Amino acid sequence: MESRDQSNRQLGRAYCYSNVERRQSVSPSVIVIGGGFAGVAAARALHDAAFQVVLLESRDRLGGRVDTNYSFGFPVDMGASWLHGVCKENPLAPLIGRLGLPLYRTSGDNSVLYDHDLESYALFNTDGNQVPQELVTNVGEAFEGILKEAHKVRQEHSEDMSIRQAFSIVFERRPDLRQEGLAHNVLQWYLCRLEGWFAADADTISLKGWDQASEELLPGGHGLMVRGYRPVINTLAKGLDIRLGHRVTKIVRRFNGVKVTVEDGRTFIADAAVVAVPLGVLKAKSIKFEPRLPEWKEEAISGLGIGTENKIALHFDKVFWPNVEFLGVVASSSYECSYFLNLHKATGHPVLVYMPAGLLAQDIEKMSDEAAANFAFLQLKKILPDASKPIQYLVSHWGTDINSLGSYSYDAVGKSHEMYERLRIPVDNLFFAGEATSMSYPGSVHGAFSTGLMAAEDCRMRVLERYGELDLFHPVMGEETSVSVPLLISRM
Ligand SMILES: Cc1cc2nc3c(=O)[nH]c(=O)nc-3n(C[C@H](O)[C@H](O)[C@H](O)COP(=O)(O)OP(=O)(O)OC[C@H]3O[C@@H](n4cnc5c(N)ncnc54)[C@H](O)[C@@H]3O)c2cc1C
Repeated sequence: MESRDQSNRQLGRAYCYSNVERRQSVSPSVIVIGGGFAGVAAARALHDAAFQVVLLESRDRLGGRVDTNYSFGFPVDMGASWLHGVCKENPLAPLIGRLGLPLYRTSGDNSVLYDHDLESYALFNTDGNQVPQELVTNVGEAFEGILKEAHKVRQEHSEDMSIRQAFSIVFERRPDLRQEGLAHNVLQWYLCRLEGWFAADADTISLKGWDQASEELLPGGHGLMVRGYRPVINTLAKGLDIRLGHRVTKIVRRFNGVKVTVEDGRTFIADAAVVAVPLGVLKAKSIKFEPRLPEWKEEAISGLGIGTENKIALHFDKVFWPNVEFLGVVASSSYECSYFLNLHKATGHPVLVYMPAGLLAQDIEKMSDEAAANFAFLQLKKILPDASKPIQYLVSHWGTDINSLGSYSYDAVGKSHEMYERLRIPVDNLFFAGEATSMSYPGSVHGAFSTGLMAAEDCRMRVLERYGELDLFHPVMGEETSVSVPLLISRM
């Protein structure tokens, strides 16, 4: 499939195969662009359906926004780390179950904190005093009340608005839900967690999108991948033709073939391509499409929101913090609040992961790694003044890394959720996959995985219909899910 001859003559030759010649000589070919969960799932499915597949990945590693780092001597996920929806309906459950990978469940269904229950935590004021648990529970209930009222506001208004605007309407109507003093700060902490879920600030999150999000949750709660996500992607990628360090810069589509150019000028040709690069990369227009993508597709690319969430993992020589699942600092605005995930609880390793989102995450991205790690450590010192310095740290930069340019998508204010579907719909022989093409489970690993399978199936049908070879090939999906192995979950 690789062509060093960049002239159209070579591309033309590929197109000149007649149907008869193709049937005798080669199977249909596909180029998959992007080696995250979506791209690898698409490549796996098409490879298993006897397509010739080449996967082009810009980084020197697979996984994309799944990035299990081993430099502490054990796995730490710097991108995704939870399986959202610990249940057999989760499209990734059969594979995770078969690999025997343990999960540590941090919340059950419908928690007001999404991936946490208020079961094992310690929240502190900025002066280092712990917030009484009863106050946290009471404010949690008030927050639930605010969300219920916000849901009503959503039903009453046909026009969309930001979640912050909806909250102000709620407070005007129900002044009893307003909180004062320390309770106000605790409420800001709840808001900070909501913003973390969307990787965006309250004034950019759509009320409609927020309301829709509860419908996108699979049952079973949220389970941390104790050994990291890496073994899952490695298993999916086994035996595939993967070219790391291949940054795609141009995609040319003609009536029956595609030509893909990478940064150093090399070109690849195939019958079709699956575009599984992040929304942020599409927004930045760093890949040139020829001819230009249709207007409706460009609108979807610009209309969807892309947020920022980062992780700063601090590795200590020993545990000096309370034995809880998470620690938090409450403050007068959600921007100043903070949240640390205690990995020790789930994995036994002395690591705290500080996770800023939205504007705060973007501001921290402007710092050097050392300054960012110091910043996180200072937040910790506010609550545990005797904290010893970390022995190692890791800092993610999902918002500025040119391979992601954002953490995950969200519904922007005033834009329809249909934008996700528009981003998925194929254009000629280009098929689109990735978390931001998932109407059902955007912003998640299992969502990205399912869109990869969907794109592979669409591609298989389209290409084989074109060549009249539909009967010769087996369905792309199916066998993987036939054997069901139960998931290994701790903290039931
Ligand atoms: C900090 C953070 C925490 C998260 N936590 C969770 C979680 O706990 N659970 C969960 O389910 N989800 C979580 N997510 C979301 C989840 O990681 C993503 O939704 C999912 O991994 C996206 O997969 P993808 O295949 O769509 O994109 P990606 O994984 O980003 O894959 C796209 C690939 O395309 C490559 N690429 C980019 N440009 C080019 C180019 N020009 N040419 C070739 N290749 C290119 C990239 O290098 C990348 O490998 C989190 C994300 C972040 C950032």
